[in-house]
Amino acid sequence: MKPMSSETVDAMRVWRRDLHAHPELAFNEFRTSDLIARELAAMGITVHRGLGKTGVVGTLSTAQGRAIALRADMDALPVKELNSFDHCSRHVGTMHACGHDGHSAMLLGAAHHLATNPNFHGTVHFIFQPAEESEGGGRAMVEEGLFERFPCDAVYGMHNWPGLPAGTFAINHGPMMAALDTFEVTVQGRGTHAAMPERGIDSFTIVAHITLALQSIPSRMLSAMESAVISLTQIHGGDAWNVIPDQVVMRGTVRCFSPNIQDRVEEAIRVICRLTAEAHGATAILTYTRGYPPTINTVGETDVAIAAARRVVGDANVQIDCKPSMASEDFAFMLQANRGAYIWIGADGAQPSAPLHNPRYDFNDDTLSIGAAYWVSLVESVLGVTDV
Ligand SMILES: [Zn+2]
Ligand SMILES: [Zn+2]
Repeated sequence: MKPMSSETVDAMRVWRRDLHAHPELAFNEFRTSDLIARELAAMGITVHRGLGKTGVVGTLSTAQGRAIALRADMDALPVKELNSFDHCSRHVGTMHACGHDGHSAMLLGAAHHLATNPNFHGTVHFIFQPAEESEGGGRAMVEEGLFERFPCDAVYGMHNWPGLPAGTFAINHGPMMAALDTFEVTVQGRGTHAAMPERGIDSFTIVAHITLALQSIPSRMLSAMESAVISLTQIHGGDAWNVIPDQVVMRGTVRCFSPNIQDRVEEAIRVICRLTAEAHGATAILTYTRGYPPTINTVGETDVAIAAARRVVGDANVQIDCKPSMASEDFAFMLQANRGAYIWIGADGAQPSAPLHNPRYDFNDDTLSIGAAYWVSLVESVLGVTDV
């Protein structure tokens, strides 16, 4: 594999900082997708726009036959940036706090390198997807026919990972990220004077019982070899000091790694809410929503990704069968529709990176050329070219 040119590396840094300064939220990545489409077109790459509203797909082909898809995400978060460097967010309250600016820049860099050095036989689709953070832009692109319009043998994803040193990768055969479901429980009691609870039904007491009982699902209803995280994240009810409200609403999330556990946890939450409310003379209505599925790598493509990463950073710097994360990722929808693999690229420099989603986070530019080289390595290994 030819090393990245200084022109490509410099361009990635400029794109990354430009994107960081102009972050855009889910499905509003208008400026971002304009920049990406413009740069791809300037490289001579065929550009398709509009899948998933703001999604962009660039296609570079040297021969009929095999095809590979590489995916980056483009969206930012509703976080107020607390950094003060020159490229910090110009859009107050919106920030690239998850490094999708870096992901887009690395994929553009790989496109630039491959367009200049097309040492492969086949087709590469560069997928720039919107709305990874919460609204399922990956799902939207898949549902709108991503893989029918841009057929490929496999799709690959990458995310920067604070906690892993720059110059390393980590990947699993199998689960990488958890499924994310959300739930809302409305407990309907009977409002009353705070001094006379016996005249009503106290929804808050019921919510407290439910909150504790939910924690017995992972610890008592699943085997110790299985895992799920249930977190209650909101409780809403009441407006006065001296009134027990009629109704209290609680919300939370469930994370786990298999559809089977999702089914069992959902059913257990339903039973606990219904019977706990009934035991107190109240009712509970549960709305349970399946969000992102688990992100699960296919075995053969994981091996391909490992080999590609090893060629870039050496065997010792690719961690295999690492601990998966309980966070979630909408690349999962692409892996439900196609074979493929998702890898983490180390983000920590001399100083550890701020965590993802933190207001002081900034993508580590020293990793741009490593990530782009991984993409190129993947393309050249899958589409069969010897070193030049
Ligand atoms: Zn994120
Ligand atoms: Zn992210």
